[in-house]
Amino acid sequence: MEKYITKTFKSYTVLRSYSTFVNKSKKLLDIIKPGVVVGNDLYKLYNYAKDNGFAIPAVNCTSSSTVNATLEAAKELKAPIIIQFSNGGSAFYAGKGLNNKNQEAATIGAISGALHVRQVAKSYGIPVILHSDHCARKLLPWMDGMIKADNEYFEIHGEPLFSSHMFDLSEENKEDNIKTCISYFKKMAKINQFIEMEIGITGGEEDGVDNTNAKNSSLYTKPEDIWDVYREFSKVSPFFTIAAAFGNVHGVYKPGNVVLRPDLLGKHQEYIRNKINSKEKNPVSFVFHGGSGSTKQEIQTALQNGIVKMNIDTDTQWAYWSGVNNFYNKKKDYLQNQIGNPEGNDKPNKKYYDPRSWLREGEKSMVERIKEACINLNNVNIL
Ligand SMILES: [Zn+2]
Repeated sequence: MEKYITKTFKSYTVLRSYSTFVNKSKKLLDIIKPGVVVGNDLYKLYNYAKDNGFAIPAVNCTSSSTVNATLEAAKELKAPIIIQFSNGGSAFYAGKGLNNKNQEAATIGAISGALHVRQVAKSYGIPVILHSDHCARKLLPWMDGMIKADNEYFEIHGEPLFSSHMFDLSEENKEDNIKTCISYFKKMAKINQFIEMEIGITGGEEDGVDNTNAKNSSLYTKPEDIWDVYREFSKVSPFFTIAAAFGNVHGVYKPGNVVLRPDLLGKHQEYIRNKINSKEKNPVSFVFHGGSGSTKQEIQTALQNGIVKMNIDTDTQWAYWSGVNNFYNKKKDYLQNQIGNPEGNDKPNKKYYDPRSWLREGEKSMVERIKEACINLNNVNIL
């Protein structure tokens, strides 16, 4: 089966009928192993998700604490999970005290985070996808650094450090966007790495990319644009996902006149299906950005139309903070001095201000919010 897939990926029809080989009565761990998932295994995982009507939350992590909370949530629900590092999150992982000239801190931080995930993921007994989030043109030195590390890891272990990377050149014209992505994708395909690309733009603001004033028409990707991506990328490798715009917006706020249209993804699938003459309902693997604040119905429509990954950041940030905030409010009188609380002037407060106490409260609250995201995406009891 492995050979089957790598040798025939240039034929759309043959390739896309692959998922029918996946036995749906099997659980995920009958098909792939726990730990970081790459290449053919990731391809199988995304097809398995489409066939079984679920998608995997991609949680933006900034520390070993948020990584561990994410793994803990997925372990409790017996489900796969995606851990992703944004550019800013990567720099934070390495430490804000480091100079980020030429994206050095962001590169070191992304590698450091990835190695932490690599070290612990298997012990949680779940499949983990290791991914980097939005990379605009000005951040390409960061991507170059990560891909260098991927190649070094590949030399030793026969697989890339990261499962996949995302490129966001959606601010540029379509031709330049596709051309740049393809030039990278050719290098990534050699190490069996996935690419996620964005076509059409996600509104709002995230991690320093501000699309709050984007034109309305660019917030909805056209089917012809999806086809241009699908056709060109398929010539390189089947290992790609597409973040299409369907009125989605980063952050929890919505411009009044932008309506979320997950039904449009179904139209895109139909368009591609006809182009490649496929019987498969959802030939494209879509990624849902800017999903905070979406209704359950909108998410279910997106799932029916081939979403395999949904990003979550804003809501888990809030969850982490509210865990700490609630702890502080509850234990306020124990957190004003090292010694002295309502139980006595000489009572020590160490067990309250120890970072393990209050950070853990942030983690616990984040775990619950990630579980909620998993449930909304039907990503429960998959293993
Ligand atoms: Zn995004």
